[in-house]
Formats: sequence, structure tokens, C-alpha cells
Amino acid sequence: MEIGGDAPISVQSMTNTETKNVSDTVSQIRRMEKEGCELVRVAVPDLESCYSLPLIKKEINIPLVADVHYDYKLALKSIECGVDGLRINPGNIGNNEKIKLVIKSAKKINLPIRFGINSGSLDKNILKKYKKVTPRALVESAVNVIKILDELNYHNIIFSIKSTNTINTIEANNIFSSKYDYPLHLGITEAGPPFQGIIKSSVGIGSLLFQGIGDTIRVSLTGDPVEEIKVGYEILKVLHFRQRSPDLISCPTCGRCKVDLSKIVKKVERKIRNINKPLTIAVMGCMVNGLGEAKEADIGVAFDKKNGVLFKKGKIIAKYSDKIIIRRLLEEIKGM
Ligand code: SF4
Repeated sequence: MEIGGDAPISVQSMTNTETKNVSDTVSQIRRMEKEGCELVRVAVPDLESCYSLPLIKKEINIPLVADVHYDYKLALKSIECGVDGLRINPGNIGNNEKIKLVIKSAKKINLPIRFGINSGSLDKNILKKYKKVTPRALVESAVNVIKILDELNYHNIIFSIKSTNTINTIEANNIFSSKYDYPLHLGITEAGPPFQGIIKSSVGIGSLLFQGIGDTIRVSLTGDPVEEIKVGYEILKVLHFRQRSPDLISCPTCGRCKVDLSKIVKKVERKIRNINKPLTIAVMGCMVNGLGEAKEADIGVAFDKKNGVLFKKGKIIAKYSDKIIIRRLLEEIKGM
């Protein structure tokens, strides 16, 4: 897979199983693959996890990246164990000499490395200089790595500059991308449980992508990583970068709506979940305004008291009772 340049913005995630538990890890990755995950990262906190890497790799179909903190020897061992990429954090992997050893080993086989600059593990000297985590402090940490990369003439590298503070993340990535051409992995670190995490990630990742910054994304949520993939694709869909599933639009309802639209929308959402067509589907609460408001939709329904109309691009194509209209809508979608 390619990251950066003209390659499409990819969606990636990280397992939350114990990596040494190969069967749990493989089964989680397979669920992630099904949802469209294009690269997966696994935590490598010990040697046993290193030895699991080849076993996991042969059971999956997407690139496997080893995520290593604190111990550069585990990074070297992961390379030996055949991973497709490495993610290390210059703030905690050790001194420059250790970083160099990892880069030299990766360079021998042209293995990509992501250097993850994180607000929570910024280099102590940088933190001392800036007194707190600021966008410039985060960028300086990346620049220190770039000096080493230039010295070793190795550039198969991706950077990520993440903070738990969404504004710091946006500013730091802006500063970095205005000066350097390295591909960027975007994310808001420790974004939180799904409700908060989705909002923070959508604002942070979304605003950077909208400015043309970012090559691969990971939405961090506390919970099942499969959900991270779904959210990642939704962000790309909203920004018209990539569309894997239909875009469902529905009105908020008002006093004109005479049906239980919330229930109807949930049903449609469930039924179209596995349809991989780039359609816009509308479910609107009334005919008076619904048709006009959703005229950009490829197909949709709008209701009155007991009936609904099926429409395409704002033009009514049929009228049905509310008992059968959703079935008819789904049949039409299947044929599109
Ligand atoms: S489409 Fe009709 S029911 Fe829905 S918000 Fe607009 S006016 Fe109200």
C-alpha cells in the first residue's frame, strides 16, 4: 500500500487485544479488515509479542505495523520478525543513538517507520524549553528526528503529530506541513469515549484534511476499534475524499412530520449498512418541504399522514402506503 503523494487517504486502526494472544488479535483484525481497515497497528510491549508478529501477519491481508515504546531493542526485534512497518515515539524510545540504530536497521530493508510525536511523551528537553506542550514544541520534536533522518539519508518515513488538545494538533500539523513534505498520519490522541471522541476527531482530522493536510487517518476511540474504521470513512465521505457506503440524510423533523421518522431512519440505516454504493439516500418527514430540501439526493422518501412518496433527484417516481414504502425504497436502492 502507498501512503502519501497521490495515494488515496487511507484509514487505519490499532488492535486492543494482547498481541501475544494471536487468535484474539487475528480475529479482531479480520473484523477490522471487513470494515475497510487498510493498515493495522499492534502493541509490542514485550518479546513474546514480537514472536507473535509473524504468526499474525500470515493470517491477515493488510500491512502489520509494530507499535513500540521505550525499548528500542523491541523495535529491532520487530523488524527481524518481519513486520511491514514500525511506529516509534522519539520522546520515549531513548536517546538519538538508539533512534539511529532503529533507522539504520529499517533502512537495510527500506521498511517504513512512523515517528509519532505525542503530547503525552514529548522529549524532556523540549518540554523544559517550551515549559508546556505547544504546537511549536511538538513540531520541534519532529524536526529533531528529521535532522537524524537527513544525516542517515533515510526518508521512507511518516510523521504524526498528535495532542489530546485538538487545537494544538491542528496548529502543529499546519506548521509542520508548511515546512516539510513528509506524509502525515492524522489523529487526535486519546480522544475519549465514542461521543466525545467522534466529535474531537471529526473536528481535528476533518479540518486538517479540508486544508489538504494528511495522508492517512486513525480515529482513536475507547472501545471496539472496528468503530474507529467506520468513523474514519464517515469523515472521508463528508469531505468527499472517499465514499464506501451510502450517505444517509434525514430531516430533524418538526410539527409537520406525522410519522415516527426516528424509527424509520434507524431501520433504513440498518438495512443499508452493507451496501457499498456511493449513493445519497434521503428520509424526510413531510412532503411539503422534504422533496425540495432533499433534491440533491439520488433517491429518497418523504411522508404525509399515511403515505409516502419515493423520489429520485427531487422528482416523485411513485406513491406508496407507509407500510410498504421502505421495502420499495430498499428494492430501488438494490437496483441502482
Ligand atoms: S422535511 Fe418537513 S418534517 Fe422534516 S424538518 Fe423539514 S419541514 Fe419539518
